[in-house]
Amino acid sequence: MKELIVMKFGGTSVADPEKIQRAADRAIAKRKAGHPVVVVVSAPGEMTDELIALARRVAPEPDSRELDMLMATGEQVGISLFAIACRARGVPAVSLTGPQAGILADEAHTKARIVEIKPRKVHEELARGNIVTVAGFQGLNPHRDIATLGRGGSDLTAVALAAALKAGHCEIYTDVHGVYTADPRVVPEARLIERISYDEMLELAGAGAQVMQARSIEVAKKFGVPIRVAHAFDVHSKGTWITGEVSSMEEAVVTGVALDRNQVKVTIRDVPDKPGMAAEIFVAMGKADVNVDMIIQSAAHGSVNDISFTVHKDDHANAVKALAQVQKRLKTGPIEHNVNVSKVSVVGVGMRSHSGVAGKMFKNLADNRVNIEMIATSEIKISCVVDRTDGDRALRCLHKVFGLDKKP
Ligand code: ADP
Ligand code: ASP
Ligand code: MG
Repeated sequence: MKELIVMKFGGTSVADPEKIQRAADRAIAKRKAGHPVVVVVSAPGEMTDELIALARRVAPEPDSRELDMLMATGEQVGISLFAIACRARGVPAVSLTGPQAGILADEAHTKARIVEIKPRKVHEELARGNIVTVAGFQGLNPHRDIATLGRGGSDLTAVALAAALKAGHCEIYTDVHGVYTADPRVVPEARLIERISYDEMLELAGAGAQVMQARSIEVAKKFGVPIRVAHAFDVHSKGTWITGEVSSMEEAVVTGVALDRNQVKVTIRDVPDKPGMAAEIFVAMGKADVNVDMIIQSAAHGSVNDISFTVHKDDHANAVKALAQVQKRLKTGPIEHNVNVSKVSVVGVGMRSHSGVAGKMFKNLADNRVNIEMIATSEIKISCVVDRTDGDRALRCLHKVFGLDKKP
């Protein structure tokens, strides 16, 4: 028997009956070539968004346990239709929910982490000769409730299953040919990247490159799972390999650029300038399960500072609630919320050994009349918060100035 392969089909790749049949044909071809095949399937099309919108029509802030129960149904539609398509073609297949597949998650509803996978039933069904389709994006939490794994979480299911089942690699099938130097929908000149390191992909994903969920890359790196991202329906698609550090003679300094439109900028005015204030604020954010991204504190004016930070828009309502308490307790000034921002980032391992990237980035934004509101850096990434209306233009300019439109 050849090595086991985990294939994942995203929402757009199973958006209608014809696509489900074509995706099933790809899985069947792998099975016929002698590989045991596990297929992770997402909710068809925009189903997850539609389910969330439906819940919000019933209650503006739906209970998170029940929202998880609702959202998880989308993936069940995907896996069952996929298995139905395989069986109709005479190929044995069986669908399993996340809990049936032994995917155990923690308690954080709507953004749970996978704690462990006990894939006994997956092995049993494979041994019976089945193609096993597993619902992405869901697991069973310690209270035996269904929990979902954060938006884009089917990528995480696929990579974690590949690790648990000791698959040769994990194949992510989507609606583009792989990972590009920028979102090809925003930057038409973007080029396909043949091979990219986990670290760079992790930073790009965290910076808004939606093609892979960031947490799935963390898991791939931890367990050394090679990932191939390719087009779902173009069998000639070369795709992109995401693997450990890629060495080449001459590294490009910048590998890719990304845009994140999901950030909200929060500014707390007149925070007393004394020890412990920042701790109070960010401990409160942590307790409210709010992930904070960029943070800046202005120089003290008088005996107070302004503190600004960004949060994901899905965490914003929780942040607002928690901050109302903080404001009372610390007696700060007013709190401002700016939803009209975007974050642009440039990423590349070459930054470790090259200086001048920040200067070039800021100069290019200035030359294009883009105002920078916040800056943050990591070893291999520089991010700027800019006005929402400047986001797409900033991304295109940066793509050009770092020569990403040209063959390396
Ligand atoms: P799926 O439904 O298959 O999970 P997603 O919508 O989550 O697909 O991810 C694919 C989309 O990611 C593409 O359609 C593309 O617009 C977007 N994207 C953003 N940045 C990049 C990038 N650097 N390379 C490729 N695609 C990107
Ligand atoms: N259906 C889920 C989402 O839309 C998970 C996924 O597609 O990866 O976020
Ligand atoms: Mg996705």
